[in-house]
Amino acid sequence: MLSQINPSQFKSDMSNNEASIPYVVAINCSYCRITAVFQLNWKSNPNKMGNYAEALCPGCSGKLKFFFLVNENSPMSMHSGALFVYPGSKERRPLSGLESATPLSEPLKRSYNSALVAFNTGEWNSTAVMSRRLLGNCPDVANR
Ligand SMILES: [Zn+2]
Repeated sequence: MLSQINPSQFKSDMSNNEASIPYVVAINCSYCRITAVFQLNWKSNPNKMGNYAEALCPGCSGKLKFFFLVNENSPMSMHSGALFVYPGSKERRPLSGLESATPLSEPLKRSYNSALVAFNTGEWNSTAVMSRRLLGNCPDVANR
């Protein structure tokens, strides 16, 4: 399955007079889950039609394939385009609306985000510890 890469993970671009596309991205490897910096080996010059690249994971040598769709309304802004990776990332993303959920305490939100980061990096012992801390910050569980 394909997954879209958040533009905040674009680290540098490659551009010409037609379009600007991501050149370096920091993402979790779809195979081994480590967070790594990938330099995208684009198979053509940046264009508005379709951009395809491959990159090898520095950790496991797994081959990732990337597709970038340029936003025709602002082709020189890579952040307005859409970058996809195949196979899709197994990275878990925070629940939408979590940051603005006022009934949840800040320690609970921090514990949740720490557990998520530990999980996404494949640190299973840390994930277990952070999950226990998360449960400890839940009022219903902590009072039992
Ligand atoms: Zn890997």
